[in-house]
Amino acid sequence: MADRDGVIWYDGKLVPWRDATTHVLTHTLHYGMGVFEGVRAYKAEQGTAIFRLDEHTKRLFNSAHILGMKLPFDAATLSEAQRMVVRENKLESGYLRPMAFFGSEAMGISAKNLSVHVIVAAWPWGTYLGKEALENGIRVKTSSFTRHHSNVTMCKAKANGNYMNSILAHKEAEMDGYDEALLLDVDGFVSEGSGENIFIVRDGKLYTPDPSSALVGLTRDTIIQLAEEIGLTVIEKRITRDEVYIADEAFFTGTAAEVTPIRELDNRTIGSGSRGPVTERLQSMYFDCVHGRAANHLDWLTPVA
Ligand code: PMP
Repeated sequence: MADRDGVIWYDGKLVPWRDATTHVLTHTLHYGMGVFEGVRAYKAEQGTAIFRLDEHTKRLFNSAHILGMKLPFDAATLSEAQRMVVRENKLESGYLRPMAFFGSEAMGISAKNLSVHVIVAAWPWGTYLGKEALENGIRVKTSSFTRHHSNVTMCKAKANGNYMNSILAHKEAEMDGYDEALLLDVDGFVSEGSGENIFIVRDGKLYTPDPSSALVGLTRDTIIQLAEEIGLTVIEKRITRDEVYIADEAFFTGTAAEVTPIRELDNRTIGSGSRGPVTERLQSMYFDCVHGRAANHLDWLTPVA
């Protein structure tokens, strides 16, 4: 990732990609205390646009607030930085990674008086789990790693350190031959994937876990709104893994994963074992929104030009 052409927005300046470096004693590298976002820009009918930019920026600020980290830029500047990196890297579509981290002034658990730095990078990134996955669904395994308790690392913060849990879970699932992991919360109820929220469909209704131990995903929020628009009932509740086994359909949502059908959990086929009709409808509505084909949701798109 480091050795490529392009520019990265780094503390207010556009820096050549290869020069966007930081010291090895940067505090966040040692302790994981940092916050970030995952955002996508799509080639829309109206030109390249960032999907739900303001909400992603807002979540970055919320994450920082939860961690007690004061960002040295305002939201307008960071939103503009995101538009700028897409433009300056001449991307028609891609993935954006804003991140805030502590500087290298001091080591130790106390993060007092440390400088806060912000970068925004953007690069081309196609489907996260593969095009095949979007059409035919993925095979998922319940993880042996439990999702963070909300009093452990603060689940509403998209915090760097939280992702050690995700990486352990994903790696385990991958090594066992699955595409993705499903993490349960400390009480054994379904929480989320390593980087996605989960939905199930049963008897025409949509269910999703109450997000007390999960990140409140913007794709999750998008899907809830779209489902309600087509008259589907959406219920937030505790969900058990065996409820997923007997669901008619299940799918993951996330900026990277978009709307990915789950065809199997723990070697139990879900529904027909392929993308179900409700998933397909919501997925297609989602792609209409991000590509600027949904007239009633153009406000979710921020053009980069
Ligand atoms: N949960 C986790 C742990 C994630 O990393 C992500 C990706 N940001 C999500 C859920 C989905 O969030 P969003 O739809 O906002 O990308």
